[in-house]
Formats: sequence, structure tokens, C-alpha cells
Amino acid sequence: MSDSCFDFHCHSLASDGALTPTELVQRAAEAGVQLLALTDHDTLAGLAEAEQAAQAVGIRLVPGIELSVGWGSRELHVLGLGFDRQHEAMLALVQTQQQARTVRAERIGARLDKAAGLANSYQRAVSLSGQEAPGRPWFAKMLLQAGKVRDEQHAFNRFLKQGQSCFVPTPWVSLEQAVVVIRRAGGVAVLAHPTRYNFTRRKLRACLTDFVAVGGGGLEVLTPGLNPQQQALLAECLHDFALHASGGSDFHTPKQTWLELGRLPPVPTDMPLVHSLIGA
Ligand code: AMP
Ligand code: MN
Ligand code: MN
Ligand code: MN
Repeated sequence: MSDSCFDFHCHSLASDGALTPTELVQRAAEAGVQLLALTDHDTLAGLAEAEQAAQAVGIRLVPGIELSVGWGSRELHVLGLGFDRQHEAMLALVQTQQQARTVRAERIGARLDKAAGLANSYQRAVSLSGQEAPGRPWFAKMLLQAGKVRDEQHAFNRFLKQGQSCFVPTPWVSLEQAVVVIRRAGGVAVLAHPTRYNFTRRKLRACLTDFVAVGGGGLEVLTPGLNPQQQALLAECLHDFALHASGGSDFHTPKQTWLELGRLPPVPTDMPLVHSLIGA
């Protein structure tokens, strides 16, 4: 299966993507993807629809999720792939995360009311997203619509990213809790986009030591836009920690024209893939 086109990281309207699960699956199929994991942030809400759509267009859907987790004082993203999406422990974990997201969204809203001089920021983001717990990209879209920022990136830079006035620290589940639940539900845990945490080599290795110790199995190394130095570092980590490689576009919206579903770097022939861990 490794030589067929796959994508194990993307988002739909169930979290912060722009397409419905059906539209996303159809777009993936048109792009030649045969094996797709929908990995919305801390929710399983899009999976049932995505499965139906995948069946209709004749591609295979792997259940997926992207969990925000705490590791020390840092926030990391862990992908769960190939788990039972009805497993009780997974459902409970998602509920915990959604509660944390709801409280966070209300707090972001309250801060934005002051900092951006808006009324009802939280309610505006709820209406726009159709979600009770809209993530930060929905607040960015809302600020753009309200004419408070030039574009969504500006909203992150001015208000929403860590270090800015409307960033709200969130009590995410721990790295260990997330990995344990993914495994208990029959899936494999993958550390997402390892180059996006501003880790030194040493810190990345410390993180992977903990990740592997609690049962982490995969590292997302096949992603667009890595430079040769980053590719070499990830190949080294893959080998040293005996991890399996995952790959994904992290597609959110057709507006990011430089990014497409399934468009990943070539897979080195000797690279062990997460496919073998999820029966794909
Ligand atoms: P949240 O899940 O609410 O923490 O939002 C995280 C999402 O916001 C990420 O998955 C990206 O889609 C987006 N995002 C995070 N940081 C930035 C940033 N600095 N600039 C633009 N988008 C970002
Ligand atoms: Mn996102
Ligand atoms: Mn992420
Ligand atoms: Mn993502």
C-alpha cells in the first residue's frame, strides 16, 4: 500500500477546515488519494459522514483525530490513527477536550471583546463556525469579517498566538493520557509536525523519549515544505526511536493553493510506515 497515494492529516468543517467531510473526501479522491485519515482537532464529529463519502467514491477512510496535548509547559499535537471511533475511552477523552475548548473559547471571546473592541466575540465565533467550542481560526475569521484585522494571519499575530493578549492557556490532556487512550482504542499515536514546535534537536529527542516510553508509535515525517536539514533530523529520529513514519498534508482549505491533499514528498523505500500498524 505504501506506493499508493495516502494522506493521514487533514481538517474539515467539523473543526477548523473549510470543506464539509464529504467535500473533503471528494477532493481527496480527485487528487488521487486512495487512503485518507480525517484528523479534525479534538473531535470525531466528521468521521461518520467522511466514511459514507469514502465508500461512495471508493477510497478508504482511516479514523483519525488530532489531539492537543500538554507536555510540560508546552502544547503539542498528537494524531490518533486507525482506532475504534466508538471506543468509550476515546469518546470520554474527546468530551474532556471539548469541555476545555468551550471554556477556552468563552475566555478568548471575553478577552477579544476588550482587546478588539467588539461585542459578543464568543457568540460571533459560535455562529460563524456552527460549533460551541470554536478554535482560534474561527476567531481569526470572525475578526476579519468584523474588519478588525487585515487577514487571518494578522489576527493570530495581533491577538491569538501564544504571547499575545487573547491567548488563553488550556488544560489539555497530557501527552501520556492521549497516547494511552489512542492505543486502548486500538490505534497508533503519531507526533504531528515535529518541526513546528521550535524544538532544538535535544528537546525533540527528549520529547520523543517520553513519547515512546508511553507508547507512541509514529512520527509525521512526510510533510510538504521540509528543508533537507529537517528531513535529515526526522530520519535520524525515526531510526533512533524505532518509530514508524506517517505523512500528511495538514490540508485545511482550498484557499491555501500551495497545499493539496495527498501531495507529499516521495517515500524512501526502506522507511517503515505507520500503514503496517493500522492494517492499511
Ligand atoms: P486551536 O486548535 O484553537 O489551538 O487552533 C490551532 C489551529 O490554528 C492550527 O491547527 C492552525 O490551523 C491554526 N494556527 C495555529 N497557529 C497559527 C498561527 N500562528 N498562524 C496561523 N494559524 C495558526
Ligand atoms: Mn488547524
Ligand atoms: Mn497541528
Ligand atoms: Mn492539523
